[in-house]
Amino acid sequence: ADTREDRAATDEPAATDEHAGTEDDAEPETALETARRQLEHAAAHIDVDPGVVERLKHPTTVHRVAVPLERDDGSVEVFTGYRAQHDDVRGPYKGGLRFHPHVSEAECVGLSMWMTWKCAVMDLPFGGGKGGVVVDPKELSATETEKLTRRFAEEARKFVGPKKDIPAPDMGTDAQTMAWFMDAYSMQEGETIPGVVTGKPPVVGGTEGREEAPGRSVAIVVREAADYYGSDLDGLTVAVQGYGSVGANAARLLDDWGADVVSVSDTGGAVYDPAGLDTYAVPSFSERPNAVTDYAAETAGVDLLDEGSDILELDVDVVVPAAVGNVITADNAADVRADIVVEGANGPTTSTADGILAERGVHVIPDILANAGGVTASYFEWLQDINRRTWTVEEVRSELEAEMLKAWDAVRTEVEDKDITWRDAAYVVALGRIAEAKSVRGLWP
Ligand code: GLU
Repeated sequence: ADTREDRAATDEPAATDEHAGTEDDAEPETALETARRQLEHAAAHIDVDPGVVERLKHPTTVHRVAVPLERDDGSVEVFTGYRAQHDDVRGPYKGGLRFHPHVSEAECVGLSMWMTWKCAVMDLPFGGGKGGVVVDPKELSATETEKLTRRFAEEARKFVGPKKDIPAPDMGTDAQTMAWFMDAYSMQEGETIPGVVTGKPPVVGGTEGREEAPGRSVAIVVREAADYYGSDLDGLTVAVQGYGSVGANAARLLDDWGADVVSVSDTGGAVYDPAGLDTYAVPSFSERPNAVTDYAAETAGVDLLDEGSDILELDVDVVVPAAVGNVITADNAADVRADIVVEGANGPTTSTADGILAERGVHVIPDILANAGGVTASYFEWLQDINRRTWTVEEVRSELEAEMLKAWDAVRTEVEDKDITWRDAAYVVALGRIAEAKSVRGLWP
């Protein structure tokens, strides 16, 4: 089965795919289905040209490439790669590149649609893209991964570029993958072009603060949501599912800011301390993979969550699903006891679950706002690459804070004006900007 471990290993929010639900999930929903339903739902709240909505249901282009690889044993294997380019009315396509055995065309398309909304909610001058190679990176040696990345970059060279489509890390890819991609692209183009991908190591044009950015935006959104609903951050109880880069960075910042992170989990299970965990002492995935439960065994006063109880169902103020997609479904939405859900992963809530939570008055702050710190820091990286000027981590953090607050305010205004959910409000903001851009640019011919 698909494991959380695969996804926690990346520095990116995980995403919905059809294999990610619980075993008894009666409604496995693909990323594409979820994305289309969310679009239709939100479109009902806004006076938008139906022609625009129709256009947005279809990606502009989906590239499919064969990626041949000579394995270490001399045999040749051919992998399939995709790049979905959903919409570029506001700027070049932007979004992650994943190496995962469950990558599919439909998944890339659904995820590329989310990137379009995410960039528009943040008012970034980007459209949405997403790509991947159908491969289990755990089965490749480092040399094979490098060769696969370079060959994919070469196949993608016709349709990526700093002004066309800019990939970034995602599940199964990381800063090193981006460095190889950038190197292969640059060598073929005959000049060093760092802006072709983001999420690179800082020494080759990556930005400080990119890795922590999705978790940081999640923490900022938890802080704003708690404040909005009249809760004090000091003593706010939070549970975080997934202790990879998104979950751990979010948990630690919230801990710094005075919240009580009472429970965190990884594939092995969840730890629980009603007085609040020491989030720095619990090893994150990059520090020690899947070690959350070991921590309980080694630490007095910290318990494992009872067998059978679920971290998503804890009686806390805020729950943050930051592991995989499709974790809040029709099966458990009625059991969520938190007042606020902040989506750290991409697509953790199915459409049906969304309806149940809304009915029950649970506020869900959507992924396209909450984890948008990742792509926002990617935008900062791209600016630095184009301008050949680096920013300090303090500059990145303060710009990110400002951008998150701007987006938060835009979405909050729609929540209040239209009395709609946070997800619908985020879509309304995104769709409004995209529709306006489409209208002024027009449909040609
Ligand atoms: N893959 C990340 C996401 O889902 C970010 C992509 C990027 O930085 O372009 O938001």
